[in-house]
Amino acid sequence: MYLNNIVEAIGNTPLVRLNSVAKGIPGTILAKVEYFNPGNSVKDRMALRMIEDAEKAGILKPGGTIIEGTSGNTGMGLALAAITKGYKCIFVMSDKQSKEKQDILRAVGAEVVVCPVDVEPEDPRSYYSVARRLNQETPNSFYPNQYDNLSNTAAHYETTGPELWRQTEGKITHFAAGVGTGGTICGISKYLKEQNPEVFALGLDTYGSVFKKYKETGIFDKNEIYPYKTEGIGEDILPKNVDFDMIDLFLKVGDKEAALMTRRLAKEEGLFVGWSCGSAVHGALEYAKENLKEEDTMVVLLPDHGTRYLGKIYNDEWMQAQGWLD
Ligand code: PMP
Repeated sequence: MYLNNIVEAIGNTPLVRLNSVAKGIPGTILAKVEYFNPGNSVKDRMALRMIEDAEKAGILKPGGTIIEGTSGNTGMGLALAAITKGYKCIFVMSDKQSKEKQDILRAVGAEVVVCPVDVEPEDPRSYYSVARRLNQETPNSFYPNQYDNLSNTAAHYETTGPELWRQTEGKITHFAAGVGTGGTICGISKYLKEQNPEVFALGLDTYGSVFKKYKETGIFDKNEIYPYKTEGIGEDILPKNVDFDMIDLFLKVGDKEAALMTRRLAKEEGLFVGWSCGSAVHGALEYAKENLKEEDTMVVLLPDHGTRYLGKIYNDEWMQAQGWLD
């Protein structure tokens, strides 16, 4: 029994009960551990789907170049699919992202362009703008645009959502995930709510991001935007993949709380996961404490692996420099 290539290993990730960190919290708390994907993150699913949909639509042709603005995980997914299918990759990322993420992308053959994080999205130096410009300048190139490309949500509607329904035998009552492009939570939530309209979707946002305020007031408030450190979630734009009807409630989680919970997941559960996993679990447990009943089943999605954060949250000196460790 073997797979024909590495992208066939995407999906069907395990669902693992959280024990120590969920002690004393009502209900069953399960983690969907997405680092089991071959690129070590949830983003493999949508990366493959965006490429296959572009091939079908004739937008991506043999010998083409894939150009994307990515915080690293989408780049890894795109790179694996590109290797398998014979495309080149150029990734544009902000200088806020871990050095490890850049190195990993270069290791799998991609060209990486680094841009400043502290500029407006419309600024020509922003990674959104640079990705768009490179797409216009490079012949036979494809700009997936994970923010607005609905193949992203579709990947989760068709794979992650059904997996969770099957793995919980339809018992899932709550689903929690961090929100970046929104594809993960909205695709899963749409599928689960179609099976059972009572399923509750909790979106985890960051301080410094626009989502929570927008959901509650309908106002895109630029005052909500300020620098923060957690990677992969929270935005200063409203991506098309965020369907606010699919997210029942947003909670914000701070960088420090997220980092400390991520370290607990590694030490107490053996789940060596990424920073936004701590955001998702911290926020989910805060909600669960007050709102879950003993018979409820909550799934928290853990997007990626811990290796990409060794220089930051898993580094004691770095944590001390933030004032986050005694
Ligand atoms: N966590 C990490 C580490 C990510 O890379 C991403 C993707 N930006 C997310 C969470 C959020 O997932 P989504 O973009 O599907 O909302």
